[in-house]
Amino acid sequence: MNPVRKITCRTITESVKRLFIEANTELGKDVLAVVRRARRGETSERARHALRQIEENADIAGKEKAALCQDTGLAVVFAEVGQDVRVAGGDFSEAVQEGVRRAYREGFFRKSLCDPLTRKNTGDNTPAVIHTEIVPGDRIRITAMPKGGGSENASSLHMLLPTAGIDGIRKAVIETVEKAGPNPCPPVIVGVGIGGTMDRSLLLAKKALLRPLNEKQRDRRLAKLERELLKDINQLGIGPQGYGGKTTALAVHVTMEPCHIASLPVAVNIQCHAARHKTAII
Ligand code: SF4
Repeated sequence: MNPVRKITCRTITESVKRLFIEANTELGKDVLAVVRRARRGETSERARHALRQIEENADIAGKEKAALCQDTGLAVVFAEVGQDVRVAGGDFSEAVQEGVRRAYREGFFRKSLCDPLTRKNTGDNTPAVIHTEIVPGDRIRITAMPKGGGSENASSLHMLLPTAGIDGIRKAVIETVEKAGPNPCPPVIVGVGIGGTMDRSLLLAKKALLRPLNEKQRDRRLAKLERELLKDINQLGIGPQGYGGKTTALAVHVTMEPCHIASLPVAVNIQCHAARHKTAII
């Protein structure tokens, strides 16, 4: 039997706090590299200007430890908890929520959560949405993802007929991006989850957004689909911030799992250019 490793709630809270502060103030180098490349390839001056502003904004936010965007998001947390870990000194979920609370207070980030009916703000940006998975090992891998409202609103779920095939999937994705237009603050990253159940496909789509932009798709069929979707999306002409141009999306990431023989769930989760997520292993 493997020895159990103790991780305190205090360590979890501190890690979550640090990750949300970093995620909200530092744009990933992988995202910046693709934005830079897109700017060089743009022929429209307005599109180039919008992309340059994204780079300048990221530069200022990083130097001044200020939020990349006024919408500092709903706090989404992915936690892979090793089965040989014992969480000590309290409750795991509450430790995560406390980390979020402190990050938004100490980082001076906007608190963006409210009661859906009264619209009264919860006051501390909690509750975070926590996705927990039990995995082998004695570590906890935590990913913090502040998710903006504009891009989340543009996301969609399609319960396609099994006969819809690859063409049906492609149509669902393109239509979602086209309908969203400039609302999710393009250039976007498009996460696509195919398969599983209705809820599973949505989670796959969101997790697809966590793949670094410089990491290749290993499945050759999906790599081809990603390339084709990116090309089609960038022909829509929405462009950076909706000013027109060739860069509506920076990337399309697809994740797929088997589904029921009677189903073909396809979820599309849109991520704006403020593609924020940070990971730590404790
Ligand atoms: S969609 Fe993204 S860039 Fe636009 S306001 Fe929301 S967080 Fe900011």
